[in-house]
Amino acid sequence: MEKINVAIDGPAGSGKGTTAKGLAKKLNYKYLDTGAMYRSLALFLKRQGITKKEDFKEALLEGINISFDENNNVYLNGENVEEQIRSSEIGALSSDFASLPPVRRLLATKQKEIVKEKGYVAEGRDIGSVVIPDAEVKIYLDASLEVRAKRRYEDLVQRNKGKEPEDISFEELEKQLEERDKQDKGRADSPLLKVEDAIEVDTSECSIEEQIEKVYEIVLRKLLKK
Ligand code: C5P
Repeated sequence: MEKINVAIDGPAGSGKGTTAKGLAKKLNYKYLDTGAMYRSLALFLKRQGITKKEDFKEALLEGINISFDENNNVYLNGENVEEQIRSSEIGALSSDFASLPPVRRLLATKQKEIVKEKGYVAEGRDIGSVVIPDAEVKIYLDASLEVRAKRRYEDLVQRNKGKEPEDISFEELEKQLEERDKQDKGRADSPLLKVEDAIEVDTSECSIEEQIEKVYEIVLRKLLKK
């Protein structure tokens, strides 16, 4: 069967990552985590001492190379940074830098190049609007702020080997998510939005399996119509 591209957008903690990964597995497609690219870029800048967008200069991006291996681990200039980029600090920094047009231009160009061959489930904030505006299926995932914050918190606990994270409380995380969403939705260049032809799926009440199944059915319907 001819392969298509699936675009999944939505706010932090809406279940994009798990849904996109699970869907890609079911379809035998590739998975593209564009957030990991923004996070890696934020780590790259942080390592150069840049933690405010006011200090950003396009020349700082020279020499940055972001790639993935076959298990979807992300590499920054050849170094596996999969663990380091998942902190809430890098999450907040990546959202700050993601509002900068040179950053978006650089990463969107690379992402468009990657998905050209089709057969991708790509997730992010501007996939249906900018990266793959011609994606055959566009999904907008959402969930209540509380549910999203709980998911992100559990994520951090898991990454911390089952222990509560030391650097952030649940309340702080919830506030940070809210601020990040506001920033992502409010930026001038490619804000997070539900494009007209996207199908909205609310995952507040869904288990991971249900989320994946819902989106899988939408994709199957499209594939069978083709
Ligand atoms: O999805 P994730 O939480 O890993 O993304 C981190 C940040 O990267 C987001 O808050 C957003 O600001 C930015 N991002 C973006 N466009 C994308 C993916 C991520 O602006 N396509």
